[in-house]
Amino acid sequence: MRRAAVAAALLAAVTFTLFADEPKKDEPKKEPEKKEPVKYKSNDRTRPRPKVIDPGTASTADQPGKPPSDAVILFDGKDLSEWYRSGKKPDAEDAAPTWKIENGYAELKGGGINSKQKFGNAQLHLEWATPMEVKGNDQGRGNSGLYLGNFGEVQILDSFENDTYPDGQASALYGKFPPLVNASRKPGEWQTYDIIAHLPKVDDAGKVTRPGIITVLHNGVVVHHAVEFGGKFGEYQLHIQDHGNPIRFRNIWVRRLANYDVESTPPPEPKKK
Ligand code: MG
Repeated sequence: MRRAAVAAALLAAVTFTLFADEPKKDEPKKEPEKKEPVKYKSNDRTRPRPKVIDPGTASTADQPGKPPSDAVILFDGKDLSEWYRSGKKPDAEDAAPTWKIENGYAELKGGGINSKQKFGNAQLHLEWATPMEVKGNDQGRGNSGLYLGNFGEVQILDSFENDTYPDGQASALYGKFPPLVNASRKPGEWQTYDIIAHLPKVDDAGKVTRPGIITVLHNGVVVHHAVEFGGKFGEYQLHIQDHGNPIRFRNIWVRRLANYDVESTPPPEPKKK
């Protein structure tokens, strides 16, 4: 009986969908659906101007670059005060990371770390190097990882001539997607991740209208582009995994991304003639 009722309801729904748009005779024509008002026309000079920032500089093999001026600096080579040990309370006495900091980098030692701040729509930059001296193989060689909440782990691994399962190699979205290419540098060389993450968009009724989206560049090369993550989820702490290997890190920063016309300044006064 229940099955029959469900089938009837489904049939009704399909019928409705199929014929809903057919206007019946003598019925007035439907008004076209109202679209969101366009806030600014093309080439509108009254539109607010994007905020001016200093874009900084790119890194070289020897030197970390300078972050953009609007970035939240999470590690500048001096201290890990923006992080605490995973599994501890952020304000606990023993919460400070135990990693070794020297020569402008931090070397992973004694447990993973979490960022004190949370992030949502963001551009993230992180540099890492696996040990120059190669030890182990497969998942046991230069393993760490950067976690972004529900987006999961962007794998850190020495994937230079080191085979493993593809969705577990360097820059894989671990357990889900292998990178489009293996852009790994040699052990001991500095490598970069640039990640652009967008949280799912949720409407007033709580319905997800656009999934979460993540794009990842490894050493400047696109390895994931606009990969969609279903479900509803919010801001995330960053977590760097301790997998028992002494990975080095430098130059970690995040830019929070606003919508168009939000972080902007009014247009200049029109020039008097
Ligand atoms: Mg890992």
